[in-house]
Amino acid sequence: MSRFFSQKYSQLIPYTPGEQPKDNKYIKLNTNESPFKPSKKAIKLAKTQAKRLNLYPDPTCSILIREMAKTFCVKENQIILGNGSDEILNYIFLAYCDNNKGAVFADITYGFYSVQADLLGVKYKKIPLKEDFSICVEDYFNAGNVIFIANPNAPTGINLSLSDVEKVLINNKDDIVVIDEAYVDFGGDSAIKLIDKYQNLIVVQTFSKSRSMAGARLGMAFANENLIQDLNSIKYCINPYNVNKMTMCAGVGVMRDQRYTLLNCKKIISAREWTVCELSKLGFTCLPSKTNFIFAKHCKLGGEFIYKKLKENNILVRYFSSERIKDFNRITIGTKKQMEVFVDTIKQIVKE
Ligand SMILES: *Cc1c(COP(=O)(O)O)cnc(C)c1O
Repeated sequence: MSRFFSQKYSQLIPYTPGEQPKDNKYIKLNTNESPFKPSKKAIKLAKTQAKRLNLYPDPTCSILIREMAKTFCVKENQIILGNGSDEILNYIFLAYCDNNKGAVFADITYGFYSVQADLLGVKYKKIPLKEDFSICVEDYFNAGNVIFIANPNAPTGINLSLSDVEKVLINNKDDIVVIDEAYVDFGGDSAIKLIDKYQNLIVVQTFSKSRSMAGARLGMAFANENLIQDLNSIKYCINPYNVNKMTMCAGVGVMRDQRYTLLNCKKIISAREWTVCELSKLGFTCLPSKTNFIFAKHCKLGGEFIYKKLKENNILVRYFSSERIKDFNRITIGTKKQMEVFVDTIKQIVKE
């Protein structure tokens, strides 16, 4: 830290992204990316923009917003786009949290929420998940603060029903409820259909997971038009050109290739179910996943041990050192072939 760094950041602990090795020797099952290439339509449209990079992109992202409004059956003014959904989450913290309004989220959830809160000096409360790692919705009633729920949750993979989401919304009429649906396409039920019904709901999604575009950085939020207006005010103060030309056109391609996304999600779900079944035979407990990853724990071997052994065998998974989940590994679902290699390697490790 330099002597010039603002005092207010003296305690800052930045978010640690999963490993992104430069060489291709690893089977990457550690950061929940899609193993499938982006849609061909997306690549083709992104390419058309390369020669126009001398010009700024459209700050309103109108072409993409139009496509998305059609696909998601919402109004154009009910969508905002961001440089990844992480940026949207940043806008939400800036727009709705301050000295008086803190944040609440689960003790085990997406690590970026607490990082944002710390950065902005926002107070937050962590609500422990139940013993089985599911959310107890009553714990979120009348929270008096902005609520962040990843649904399905990460890294547990567990889904909360839409009726439970509605209970949280109804019991927090005067507070914003953010439902982060980064993984909803792998078996969850989206709350987007509720944005007209609840004035306090913001649904966040991303192109990074089910849409094979983690490298393009494109995320979005859906909410009633007043909330979207708030978020746009923040966006225009930070980075009006937050979505670059190539990414925006790639996004249009993805929207016009919905069948490809759905097909890939089906493949992931089927590889997931197969992997869970195989892991169970090998002494693992897997939490019920509605995502593109599995959160699994072995009856004897520790999480760090398995992580290290897999890495020696050129397979990367994610291991978390925090006390409550240190016996687990988060394993991203790759192609069926990758999962077969993974299971074979796990068999070796368990046998030893
Ligand atoms: C991956 C992830 C995000 C961030 O996705 P980007 O759009 O790539 O920034 C947000 N929330 C959760 C729960 C995630 O797992």
